[in-house]
Amino acid sequence: MIYHIEFDIAAVFVTLFMAYFIIFRKGVRRHANRVYLSMLVFNFIAEIADIFGSYANNHPEYSTVYIKDFWNYLYLSSHNVIGYIIVVYVFYLIGYEKTQKKAMSLLVLPLGVDLTLLFTNPFHRQIFFYDDAGRYTHGKLFFVIYVVALAYMIFAIYMTVRHRRAISERRASALIFFLCITFVPIVIQIIFPEYLLTLFFETLGLMGILFTIESKDDTVNPTTGILNRYALQAALDRVVSGKGSNVLVLIKIPNLNYYNKMIGFENMNGILRRIAKWMDDTYTPHVCYDCGRGHFAVLCEQISEIDIQTIRSRTMERFDHPWGKGEFSLVFPVQFGIIHIGDDVKTVENAFMLIDRPFEGKVSSDLNVHKAVHDYERGVLIERLIDKALHNKSFKVYYQPIWSTERGRISSAEALCRLVDEEYGMIPPDEFIPIAERNGSILNIGNFVFEEVCRFYSEGNLQKLGIDYVEVNLSTVQCMSKNLKEMFDNTLKKYSLDAGCINLEITESATAENQKVLFDTIDILKDSGFTFSLDDYGTGYSNITYMYDMPFSIIKIDKSILWKAIHPETGDGQKNARIYLENTVRMLKDMNYSVLVEGVETIEQKKLLEDLHCDYLQGYFFSRPVPGKEFTEYLKTFKG
Ligand code: C2E
Ligand code: MG
Ligand code: MG
Repeated sequence: MIYHIEFDIAAVFVTLFMAYFIIFRKGVRRHANRVYLSMLVFNFIAEIADIFGSYANNHPEYSTVYIKDFWNYLYLSSHNVIGYIIVVYVFYLIGYEKTQKKAMSLLVLPLGVDLTLLFTNPFHRQIFFYDDAGRYTHGKLFFVIYVVALAYMIFAIYMTVRHRRAISERRASALIFFLCITFVPIVIQIIFPEYLLTLFFETLGLMGILFTIESKDDTVNPTTGILNRYALQAALDRVVSGKGSNVLVLIKIPNLNYYNKMIGFENMNGILRRIAKWMDDTYTPHVCYDCGRGHFAVLCEQISEIDIQTIRSRTMERFDHPWGKGEFSLVFPVQFGIIHIGDDVKTVENAFMLIDRPFEGKVSSDLNVHKAVHDYERGVLIERLIDKALHNKSFKVYYQPIWSTERGRISSAEALCRLVDEEYGMIPPDEFIPIAERNGSILNIGNFVFEEVCRFYSEGNLQKLGIDYVEVNLSTVQCMSKNLKEMFDNTLKKYSLDAGCINLEITESATAENQKVLFDTIDILKDSGFTFSLDDYGTGYSNITYMYDMPFSIIKIDKSILWKAIHPETGDGQKNARIYLENTVRMLKDMNYSVLVEGVETIEQKKLLEDLHCDYLQGYFFSRPVPGKEFTEYLKTFKG
């Protein structure tokens, strides 16, 4: 039989091309990458040996037994090693090289049996021999080589399927596909044994792996050249389900945008590259990731507490010194975070929440991982409770009376939303409103509160008991909603009410953020007949200059200002706080606003505010916020 070596020759060229590609465009997983490269090397040796061995077999007249033996042993041994390396490669991809060292050393056993049989072949000639005509012929035990190769292949596929999440589903299916490609020539060679296709197809499989698994384009950060968040996600997918002490170290540089503006984008990128390179060199063998926005992570598998502290002190020490060169040499504060995977975070999502959280706390400080995780998980829980309450329509509206000093009676009320969960009890609005604003469910909550207030008001009891209007809190997010006016108008119509029975409260912080949108919304709603109050005045955002233009009828001074003037529990007050309160009330009244002070809890506070001629008072002194029914009862019995 004459062997065709053309496919082997083609395979050599493809292998050389891949070797070039991988050496000059370094792959991403340093360890797995090296294993991949060794597969290429053995593949190359096998190809060369197969070409020369087949040539020698084709032309026994030109070759001695020694020459034939040399190429045949070289071919069989190098080819056999590839099966073993493929399994090792899969182990590296799924991260077993660190956790399953024993299993990895056991893997070599079948190969050991294989090679022992092969190298003792000169004595027993059961693997191959030369027939009388000097032709290469398989011996009785040659099948062992097939069995071992097949076993390695099947095991590699099995491990890939089992740990596909760790490699990522997409990559795992690519890997399986390319491993399976190596089976194709087995079938063809049964029919056409003279065509040496095995190595060619193996090379095709390796090429497929190079462009899918080893491709670095989607896993490397183009700015810094180190692995990016997608690569980290794949690694964390694997680690969160694993055992052992795995730690994710976070190093965050704050305000990247500020530095970009200060020294320019390109210069800042240069500095980031330096930082990334330093981290990559310093933390080896642990793997560094650039997660964007100046947030870096180092995944340390099987690491001791002492080593973590060493990383911490080295990082802090390095960041005490400037980065960059010459005029663009900057010292950055850093925040250092240590996340014990499995203890502090149990999911990849939570780990990324900590990575993406903006820099907070003091400069050059440690991230409070426990608090951050707790806050986040609590936030997720609250979101769930909000959804549940919206679905079950279990939000409640409470009413808190507002006292008119001029009339000496309760003249209005503030509607305040309540979330009470059967399992978790009362969730304070200060906690759930900001979350609802972030995820948009405030729109539904706002609609619910508005409708509930209208329904309650339309019963007629409130008017009879002297309530002129109800104050309803309006969130900035609601102001951005295009159909707010339509929804309010429709609801008023549904209950045959006039907009005059509702006064909308907008918080002072909102006025600082989205002035334009807010002004426009106020203008639109004014057309429907709504009036407005400015809530929480004095909490730090006030910019009195733009307030002049705003159509507020009532300014609600925040309770913190009153409490500094007279504390509800101690009765103490700061002289300057009292002066500030007096002057604020006077100024607002001179500007023709009605003034309401919140948080009135004691008779002393009430007296002081009456002396200052405040128009309205609101606080526990009169009543806490109570359900609608209780509120009407309260109005009936309340004697000012
Ligand atoms: P806010 O609009 O400033 O409401 C006044 C808050 O002060 C209420 O807290 C009320 O219970 C509390 N308060 C009133 N008088 C006293 C007092 O004498 N002492 C003390 N310690 N507290 C007093 P609450 O109900 O917890 O609401 C907190 C915030 O949540 C509200 O502040 C408002 O900004 C927001 N909120 C409540 N309901 C809604 C709603 O339906 N929609 C929107 N967008 N926000 C709401
Ligand atoms: Mg309010
Ligand atoms: Mg307020």
